[in-house]
Amino acid sequence: MYKPTIAVVGRPNVGKSTLFNRIIGERKAIVEDTPGVTRDRLYADGEWLNHEFNVIDTGGIEIKDEPFQEQIKMQAEIAILEADVILMITNGKEGVTDDDMHVARILQKSEKPTILLVNKIDNFEMRNEIYDFYRLGLGDPFPVSGSHGLGLGDSLDAAVEHFKNIEVDLEKDDSVKVSLIGRPNVGKSSLINAILNEDRVIVSDIAGTTRDAVDTEYTFEDEEYTLIDTAGMRKRGKVYESTEKYAVLRATRAIERSDVVLVVINGEEGIIEQDKRIAGLAHEAGRAIVIVVNKWDAVEKDDKTMKKFEDEIRQQFQFLDYAPITFLSAKTRSRLTTLFPLIKLVNDSHKKRVQSSTLNEVIVDSVSMNPTPTDKGGHRLNIFYGTQVSVGPPTFVMFVNDTELMHFSYKRYLENQLRRAFDFHGTPIHIISRKRN
Ligand code: GDP
Ligand code: GDP
Repeated sequence: MYKPTIAVVGRPNVGKSTLFNRIIGERKAIVEDTPGVTRDRLYADGEWLNHEFNVIDTGGIEIKDEPFQEQIKMQAEIAILEADVILMITNGKEGVTDDDMHVARILQKSEKPTILLVNKIDNFEMRNEIYDFYRLGLGDPFPVSGSHGLGLGDSLDAAVEHFKNIEVDLEKDDSVKVSLIGRPNVGKSSLINAILNEDRVIVSDIAGTTRDAVDTEYTFEDEEYTLIDTAGMRKRGKVYESTEKYAVLRATRAIERSDVVLVVINGEEGIIEQDKRIAGLAHEAGRAIVIVVNKWDAVEKDDKTMKKFEDEIRQQFQFLDYAPITFLSAKTRSRLTTLFPLIKLVNDSHKKRVQSSTLNEVIVDSVSMNPTPTDKGGHRLNIFYGTQVSVGPPTFVMFVNDTELMHFSYKRYLENQLRRAFDFHGTPIHIISRKRN
């Protein structure tokens, strides 16, 4: 189901981060007194009156080397692109400032539903301060106090009211969603173009939605696929892309919508830290994964080069040991045909259901080959039985005598046994242990 997004915008120090934390209900972001401090967390799940949504704190997206005014302008633009509803935050203690006017004008032009919050209205007497904010032309101002937790309910009521108008039938198609993630310039767009065998990506700009602008349909062996290009922002200028936090945010959002994630690496440049962070997002989200080494045409090769690169990937991405790797070139189309069979393979694995009887045979065999661990007192892990509780990724519950005894390494062993026995490729496998007496 489509999950709407709310973005929090406003100039520094008005209380965006404080309100963000209130909305997500946990103190996940770090609040500091310094204007414009870097926050760790800028994207999280929120819930209000049974409505689930994503929340973005645009204040956490710093755009390097840009003057302050330019930064808040870009943050507002990012909010317009990414969100369904915007909460503009102002400071009731300071009144309306030029920067507020500036942000308000950008938001007005966008016609994105915007709710105006006047923060730091910590008590009833201060309520009169809100009237001046009508000047911003964003409708009724809502008095709130982030630090005291006041007034937020009314503004969230107003925000979720707008969710009703969002088109929701977009994601109803049951095509396999495939996203391409990776650093700028690794060749994500080129790869999509190469797959589609044409010179441009078909842009489906659907007004009034926050759909990442570039989704494309593709058919392979009678199965429908939707390719999600995270590089849709390119046309707005490289400055957004070079903002790593924003790139991570976009990758996170694309992964969220995907069944299969292609982690694209530049074969010419090798692996850097940022590649690992991006790949880690896909792994944590439990998606099916294929590692794609692009620009293979530009690499000087002998018969050992591929193996060497593969070893390097396995070493750098230890958490992705299950993901198949392919080497190809979007430019020359060399080895391009290796891609879709792998996508199909990992997607099938990701959705595979195994029979309980066979599963339990595999568990019994695994335990007899490698006995379960014991604790210091000689107390041994006993696995009574296992069952697959879900797919995408395949998730298994093991009923045991004592969950403490299911050590990481034994879980890992079982995971590998299941992987081998049932031919799971390119998908994480989750094993949960539950106590049964
Ligand atoms: P941001 O830069 O817009 O994200 O602002 P922060 O959330 O970091 O808040 C900036 C400062 O304002 C911090 O010192 C907060 O404690 C303070 N603050 C936030 N909300 C309120 C509020 O409702 N009332 C008062 N008095 N201070 C607040
Ligand atoms: P994106 O930012 O990840 O979407 O990367 P682009 O698709 O825009 O490609 C970045 C640059 O790499 C462009 O100049 C492409 O022409 C080039 N490029 C893309 N794929 C290949 C490839 O397979 N081989 C070579 N040599 N260059 C490529």
